[in-house]
Amino acid sequence: MRGTPITDREAYPAAWITLAALAGAFLLWRFALGAPTVSRCWIWEHWHVYCPGCGGTRALIALAHGQIGEALWCHLPVVVTLVLAAAYLLTQTVWRLRGKRGWALHYRPSWPVLLVGLFLVNCLVRNVLWLGFGIPL
Ligand SMILES: [Zn+2]
Repeated sequence: MRGTPITDREAYPAAWITLAALAGAFLLWRFALGAPTVSRCWIWEHWHVYCPGCGGTRALIALAHGQIGEALWCHLPVVVTLVLAAAYLLTQTVWRLRGKRGWALHYRPSWPVLLVGLFLVNCLVRNVLWLGFGIPL
């Protein structure tokens, strides 16, 4: 049984709440905790294979330093997710401020499926490169 699909009515505030929570977590990590070293991935440490999130933190750090190529190399799905989220929030905000006139990116229920698929394909490719050819992340 499927519920009512998520629309902009739910996705737009959820995106802002997620952004605020992530900003709060960053501020907590940076200022309250004194920016401790982020521990390595448990899956990588124990099994020496990449999980779907491996490289995500490095991609975020690279993006923060303006190194887009490095960020794409570290974790392409993180960059795609951030660009999509930024485009969604920006166009939706402008669209709402203009009285819902003009063009805006509208949330589609297929987005989470596509993004999860991108994360899994990225994980598979990384592990094939690592285990098959010895190319590390
Ligand atoms: Zn990992």
